[in-house]
Amino acid sequence: MTIANPQRTQILVIGGGPGGSTAAAMLAREGFDVTVLERDAFPRYHIGESLLPSVLDFLDLSGARPKVEAYGFQRKPGGHIEWGSNQWDLYFNELTGNHTYSFQVIRSEFDKLLLDHAESEGVKVMQCVEVQKIHFHDAAEISQRRPYAATVARVGEAAQSWDIHFDYLVDASGRAGIMATRYLRNREYHDAFKNVAVWGYWADAGRLPHPKEGAIATVSIPNGWIWAIPLHDGLLSVGVVMHKDSFKEKNSRQELEELYAEALAENETVSGLIAPGRRVSELKVETDYSYASTNFAGPGYFMVGDAACFLDPLLSTGVHLAMLSAMLTAVSITAAERGDVSHTEATEFFESSYRTAYMRLLVFLTAFYHQYDGKESIFWMARRLSNHDVPETKIKLAFTNLMSGVEDLRDVREGAELMTRDLVLDEMSRRVAENLKIRQDKAAMTAVYDSRMKEANASFFGKVEGLDAIARSPEQAISGLYITTSPRLGLTRVS
Ligand SMILES: Cc1cc2nc3c(=O)[nH]c(=O)nc-3n(C[C@H](O)[C@H](O)[C@H](O)COP(=O)(O)OP(=O)(O)OC[C@H]3O[C@@H](n4cnc5c(N)ncnc54)[C@H](O)[C@@H]3O)c2cc1C
Repeated sequence: MTIANPQRTQILVIGGGPGGSTAAAMLAREGFDVTVLERDAFPRYHIGESLLPSVLDFLDLSGARPKVEAYGFQRKPGGHIEWGSNQWDLYFNELTGNHTYSFQVIRSEFDKLLLDHAESEGVKVMQCVEVQKIHFHDAAEISQRRPYAATVARVGEAAQSWDIHFDYLVDASGRAGIMATRYLRNREYHDAFKNVAVWGYWADAGRLPHPKEGAIATVSIPNGWIWAIPLHDGLLSVGVVMHKDSFKEKNSRQELEELYAEALAENETVSGLIAPGRRVSELKVETDYSYASTNFAGPGYFMVGDAACFLDPLLSTGVHLAMLSAMLTAVSITAAERGDVSHTEATEFFESSYRTAYMRLLVFLTAFYHQYDGKESIFWMARRLSNHDVPETKIKLAFTNLMSGVEDLRDVREGAELMTRDLVLDEMSRRVAENLKIRQDKAAMTAVYDSRMKEANASFFGKVEGLDAIARSPEQAISGLYITTSPRLGLTRVS
């Protein structure tokens, strides 16, 4: 649909990826006037194909779930993991949550479906329109300046720009991160996760044996790890992730093709999958450095998905974080506009909830990497968080958050206080290792573990990702507030 250049909207969303379109759809369903500006023409290519089951919850809330279910994407029952000398299968139907599967998606099609859905919910969607500049009210502290308008232009017509005024800005511009990189300049990179990814698409490749044919294979190699993701068009997405320095060193003496082929040959499972196939795409290369901005929200603005933070792709958490933060944006704006909470409270709730969810995954990721038992190369040696990446206090807080509900909160808090950062990470690693053991030898471990331990274990993992990771009940409240999704999205104060 062609839309005349709008001069005003209640909520302006920059970017029509999963973060932007989910926030827009949720807000439009709550009655707001929302405009999404997207620089590209959809469908457009994007990496990030393997989704977590938690995504289904967000699709329910945005109303897009029936469309996604009906589309025919590859169903994902879980993952096959080969990690050093360990090997296990993770089936989502073993988790205690509501969802026993997820999807592997061709992102160009998935993202278009979500953006079209937002439009069908009443969002004004403008494609091939780029945000060039954001205008702010004055304030001494840069993060406290309130944005009020954006200068925008149709792609290729930069000279005919115009201004759109708004009450709220949702920056969902992905890794471009307009607010963080151009205005706040507050994006901080984690040294521990500075990777380069190289990937391509294979036709006629094999699949994992039944019942894992729709699963992601994640396997370690001496210099990093490989993903293999089956897609519904029959192609297999196969990517290699390695440390930026290894990549640079190898690429200085090897062609990209050779580097990629050599890495794939290092794992038997992946070699077996691609053996009958042929690569039908160019190789794509992207750096995937992990980062977070020092603040995610401020007066009248929220940063969603990759615009706020990015986590190493090992755990396939990108779309989950984008939709989670989209939902947090929708509840925060809704609650503030209805007068249920003040604008400051809403902003603080968003900031704190999104950062907690991100931190939990960051700590979990570190613990997961820690499980690898052959730490000979730069990739594996670099995987320890330093104080520069995340201050010790934040690590301890993430740990306390994860453990509360599993164990008595007071004991955990005091325990975490006494522990050093390394001990906290070691304790996390122990939990992760325990879970992996259960998955590797289910029969033996089931006999050893009583049901309380199993429940605690499941609860721990439920809190790493999924809706357990955010405040949805008075017990989980953050600063006295928790999320309600029915009958309407919003924030409720603990009475
Ligand atoms: C190698 C690699 C592998 C990954 N694998 C996975 C995976 O398996 N699973 C997973 O969940 N995640 C994965 N991710 C992460 C995932 O790709 C992202 O986290 C996810 O796409 C974030 O969604 P988003 O909506 O925040 O941003 P995006 O999807 O990037 O959308 C941002 C949109 O903003 C638009 N935009 C930018 N600037 C402007 C502007 N000035 N004006 C207008 N529009 C603008 C862009 O065109 C874009 O469409 C991976 C990432 C990498 C690098």
